[in-house]
Amino acid sequence: MSKLHSVATEHYMNTQRVLGDHVYAAASVIPAGRAFDLVASRYSHSVALASRFYNLMSVSSGNSGMKKFPHMSISPDHIDNALAKAGPGQLPGAVQSLILSGGRDLITQTSEIDPLAEGWDWVMEPEACDYCASKAGPGTGDFRAHYSCGCIAAPRFTESKTISTG
Ligand SMILES: [Zn+2]
Repeated sequence: MSKLHSVATEHYMNTQRVLGDHVYAAASVIPAGRAFDLVASRYSHSVALASRFYNLMSVSSGNSGMKKFPHMSISPDHIDNALAKAGPGQLPGAVQSLILSGGRDLITQTSEIDPLAEGWDWVMEPEACDYCASKAGPGTGDFRAHYSCGCIAAPRFTESKTISTG
């Protein structure tokens, strides 16, 4: 990974973490009945952060970036089911996980349809748990994050397309 990719990836992880911390805190103080609206309103924020990161990685690899990303949406049923599964005290974690799935899914799905991408990597957060450490590296299928996971998906582009600075 180039230096620029490393810096961009670390920055992106931090921006999703800030969003995740914000919505976790918000979900901790609202009535449970408001959790649905919180997820529905913040999901697109995670997606927006991810689309900017995706194109930064693409352009800095010598590609043109995605003009049109897959449309990301989260269905009301999915939100309801996921929130219903959260145990006592787990609601903030469930809210956070649902919102951050927007960015993760945008990266994994775009990497699959972008002919210039090689795929995506599971980039683990610095204090990742054993489960996440075992997942780190090239990913397949869905990004199955646990509650309060701070790991991210990052697109992978071929090294040969890296811009020459010489
Ligand atoms: Zn994780």
